[in-house]
Amino acid sequence: MKVIGILTSGGDAPGMNPAIRAVVRTALANGLRVKGIRNGYDGLMKGDIYEMNVSSVADIIHKGGTILGTARSLEFKELEGRKRGAQILRDYGIEGLIVIGGDGSFKGAKGLSDLGINTIAIPGTIDNDMNYTDYTIGFFTAIETVIDAIGKLRDTSSSHGRAIVIEVMGRNCGDIALYAGLAGGAESIIVPEHEFSMDEIITKVERGKKRGKLHHLITLAEGVGNPYKIAEELEEKTGVETKVTVLGHVQRGGTPAAPDRLLGTTMGARAVELLLEGKTNLAIGYSNGKLIEEDIEVAIQEKSKFKEELYELANNLSQ
Ligand code: ADP
Repeated sequence: MKVIGILTSGGDAPGMNPAIRAVVRTALANGLRVKGIRNGYDGLMKGDIYEMNVSSVADIIHKGGTILGTARSLEFKELEGRKRGAQILRDYGIEGLIVIGGDGSFKGAKGLSDLGINTIAIPGTIDNDMNYTDYTIGFFTAIETVIDAIGKLRDTSSSHGRAIVIEVMGRNCGDIALYAGLAGGAESIIVPEHEFSMDEIITKVERGKKRGKLHHLITLAEGVGNPYKIAEELEEKTGVETKVTVLGHVQRGGTPAAPDRLLGTTMGARAVELLLEGKTNLAIGYSNGKLIEEDIEVAIQEKSKFKEELYELANNLSQ
């Protein structure tokens, strides 16, 4: 193998840049050439491909987002599109590919592997919604952003004696709401993995009110419930003024937190090693303190890793 390619795909995540840097520099150190593919599979279909060198990844380890850009490609979802993509890779002499992205990007990576392009996938998504790995790149930075917001909202809700519903990302996976809720001391956590009970939330707020509690923070994973309806009902039933904050895309940005830089860096280097060993169709993950590899199709089918014990702990601590 002499030339490898790298692309970032799907939603961006802080820590993708450290991963790109590690891929490029590990590859160059091993005598490989590296082609950067801009804007994910969409850029591949357009041949938006350039030669990367040591300087291409200088001064990016601390930057959020992805210097390669990311975009969605409908054409690539079809077999005909992927065949054309594989041919473009061959035309550029690219024999191995590293894809950084989420679930959808992994399916595309497997598709290319099936077409004879050695492909390794790295999990980059803030949602942490990939069950074969304890953590995905970007998750810890997103939690830091949410905790920072929770702290600020706690200040102002305490001043006014208010409740606040904070909607965070994680449509299919409640990890951001859970981890940030636990670390930020939220009183209630609403996640897709559990039915939520409005009565329980109301009881907690009333109990808190009786003992003079000045704030009540609720983290809500987007899509599980309408934050405005929850706030309205809570205010109506408890008499506690309730506000809503939807954090949205701020959770996607920011300088990558230390765990995301370390995950990106170690996974990026490992991906190159796997290509050098002639491996394909593998997803790199992190489990029990070390890097692991799993067949991509197995990786995307793993059952939910939702941490029930953390959910229970959060409930116990917020009585
Ligand atoms: P993420 O990787 O964050 O889950 P998407 O689901 O948008 O983001 O996927 C990113 C890209 O991966 C899509 O634009 C598409 O080109 C490709 N992709 C998604 N699903 C598939 C699939 N089932 N087969 C092949 N390629 C896919």
